[in-house]
Amino acid sequence: MSAMRIVTTRQQVRALRDEVASRGGRIGFVPTMGALHAGHLSLVERARRSCDTVVASVFVNPLQFGPGEDFERYPRDREGDAARLAAAGADVSWFAEVEDMYAPDHCSYVVQEGPALDLEGAARPTHFRGVLTVVLKLLNVLRPAQLFLGRKDYQQTVVIRRMVRDLDLETEVVVCPTVREPGGLAMSSRNAYLRPDERKRACVLWQAIEATQRAHAEGERDPERLERILRSPLEACPGLTLEYAVVRDGETLQPLRGPVERGVCLVAARLGAARLIDNGLLPAAAPDPVLDPAQWAARLQTDG
Ligand code: AMP
Repeated sequence: MSAMRIVTTRQQVRALRDEVASRGGRIGFVPTMGALHAGHLSLVERARRSCDTVVASVFVNPLQFGPGEDFERYPRDREGDAARLAAAGADVSWFAEVEDMYAPDHCSYVVQEGPALDLEGAARPTHFRGVLTVVLKLLNVLRPAQLFLGRKDYQQTVVIRRMVRDLDLETEVVVCPTVREPGGLAMSSRNAYLRPDERKRACVLWQAIEATQRAHAEGERDPERLERILRSPLEACPGLTLEYAVVRDGETLQPLRGPVERGVCLVAARLGAARLIDNGLLPAAAPDPVLDPAQWAARLQTDG
């Protein structure tokens, strides 16, 4: 396989896109904010299976951070990310830059109603506007056949799918399972904000979701009782501030009346310096992949 290419400008990306199109190739796209972990790399590996050219972008998009959020301190590791993407089999890494992506007087945005308004949209009022605007720009420049997203950010997958449908974008959205650490904590670049003791306690998010999935598997169908099962371990966890823990319709994200045959548990909480989100389907899908640290290090040949 030829060496991974690194590009930084939209002009370079357009040239690459035209080159792939001229030989009838299919581009698979994995957008990220960097500080890459095995969850991100699982998307690259999935893209590898159905596309001949895999492009991953790394861009800490200022537009999706609200005032007082962690834009400045968000972890950045360009060299490490390039090495990880190469090891995972990406053909191209697009390290986008703010000056190239946004004109100084940029003033056009994608605003979505419906599923973007509640939950993360309520907690972070300009977040999805920033996400959708940058994703539309990235898609317009690259025009990938397929777009790979992690279920870790469940509401984001719903909101992006909706934009793709509503605005007639010609890309297929592929949602991939959440990759977890052995205790169940969903891998996230923001886990770096957790102290070791907090990292252990953060597993309660997944424990609460699993307890709700178990209750559902055993026949519980009442939405209020399911939400109580979801909330109670979270409310009992010392130092954790719960923002929301709800059971919703998997497509509209609206509250369910019951009996709940299908749905999604969605959780957001603060722990120490981190704001954590997680989710799980009802009924549970195939078990999420768990990566133990040895496997994780082996896959990231750059570790250690
Ligand atoms: P981020 O860099 O956090 O913006 O994430 C970039 C992409 O990776 C998004 O589609 C995320 O949903 C996905 N992602 C993040 N963490 C995980 C994980 N633990 N498992 C699977 N996908 C993930």
